[in-house]
Amino acid sequence: MSVTGPLQLIQEFANTLRGSPAADQLGTREEAAAWLRAAGLLPAEAGLSNSEHAALVRLRDAISDVLAAQTRGREDGNAAARLTKALADGRLVLTVDAANAVQLASAARSSYPNLVADIAVAIAGSAASGAWPRLKACSAPQCGRAFYDESESAAGRHCPAHAGSS
Ligand SMILES: [Zn+2]
Repeated sequence: MSVTGPLQLIQEFANTLRGSPAADQLGTREEAAAWLRAAGLLPAEAGLSNSEHAALVRLRDAISDVLAAQTRGREDGNAAARLTKALADGRLVLTVDAANAVQLASAARSSYPNLVADIAVAIAGSAASGAWPRLKACSAPQCGRAFYDESESAAGRHCPAHAGSS
């Protein structure tokens, strides 16, 4: 099973710090905005403020820490609390339209809360499908890449590049 849809979005977002060569694709406001536009999370005409950029990096780092805790099989209340706080920027609400379609959406109109809401909805969708606990961060030294654990035991600790490691 390959990673697609919501889970892929979270995986790619978490891996913005771990390219090859290692570089932070969210390093500057401009780089972050360009990445978000390419991922379809930010409208072409929208940008990021300094505080939004800082919040975005905190969100990415909180996700990475939660995935690392998932790999270790150890609870990390601090990372979980930071992720919860960062996702609150999305101001998620449940909407019902005239055709009775129910959807999670952002209560805010500006672009930043909407992109955080998109990420929150992706996490919620992954959790609902049971895939979320299998999204982990590679425990090989200097790696940390987010990967989807396809092992039968769901006890994988390494990304495909380090799958031979112990
Ligand atoms: Zn790795």
